[in-house]
Amino acid sequence: MARLIDGKAVAQAVRQEVARDVAAYTATTGRVPGLATVLVGEDPASEVYVRNKVAACREAGMESFHEPMAVDSTQEQVEAMVDRLNADDRVDGILVQSPLPKGLDFKRVLERIDPAKDVDGFHPLNMGRLVAGRPTLVACTPAGVMELLRRAETPLEGAEAVVVGRSDIVGKPVALLLLHESATVTVCHSRTRDLPAVTRRADILIAAVGRPRMITGDMVKPGATVIDVGINRTDDGLVGDVDFEPVAKVAGAITPVPGGVGPMTIAMLMRNTLTAAAARRPGKDG
Ligand code: NAP
Repeated sequence: MARLIDGKAVAQAVRQEVARDVAAYTATTGRVPGLATVLVGEDPASEVYVRNKVAACREAGMESFHEPMAVDSTQEQVEAMVDRLNADDRVDGILVQSPLPKGLDFKRVLERIDPAKDVDGFHPLNMGRLVAGRPTLVACTPAGVMELLRRAETPLEGAEAVVVGRSDIVGKPVALLLLHESATVTVCHSRTRDLPAVTRRADILIAAVGRPRMITGDMVKPGATVIDVGINRTDDGLVGDVDFEPVAKVAGAITPVPGGVGPMTIAMLMRNTLTAAAARRPGKDG
């Protein structure tokens, strides 16, 4: 039976470390790092996500500035809000909650965010830095996946890593981060021929697809480390992209859903906010 990689526990440890580092940063600089959250409309799931981010901020000793906007806000109004937050010196990180209501262009909003305050790591400049191997602010979920692998002491150098999914927010950045750690990386997607043959090669298998339980036991190499990024709401509740029970019988280590990658995303957002603050205004010790 696979060893369980406990994302909840790792996330809690990261959040405690960030709180300690925030206290040290504030003692040295006299500044409190601040995160602004922008929520357009009243989508209930997004409201919960934003509320959790605001609470995590306060718990870490950081300031939070929440900016709710009407569902019928125009592109210009949302971009004007981003401009205002870019100019606000108390704000170190800006997070625009997705999805935006229909008719609004999320990519254009993202490009408006000052890259130094882009704690989601989605701005093209930060994506480019990641490609070039000089990452500063890395997207929170991919960064969380890497933190889990690190803390589970998974050997990455020379390992066969297979990422299923090639989205800009998960699959691609995870693949690049693994490549920078000298794994041999294969990225799969909906047009991949014979997916099971590819996933069976993986020492490290990352599932970021959005299809409930699609990675089955016969797709996994015995002893592999399996990281399940998927969050799917089904009649059985929240399930991942990995068919947990049968895969856990084959794998060497595995993340559960919930309680795996999910909690890491907020923890890494907190860390990114502190990183952004420290880069904008370093303390005496740099
Ligand atoms: P996405 O943008 O929908 O991308 C899904 C990817 O999976 C695409 O690249 C797609 O291929 C590929 N795919 C779809 N069907 C496939 C199949 N049958 N075989 C192989 N590949 C297939 O999704 P995402 O935003 O990356 O999110 C992926 C999952 O992670 C979702 O469940 C999401 O809820 C979850 N998620 C979790 C967190 C967290 O905090 N834990 C954060 C973000 C996302 P094509 O490119 O060819 O279409």
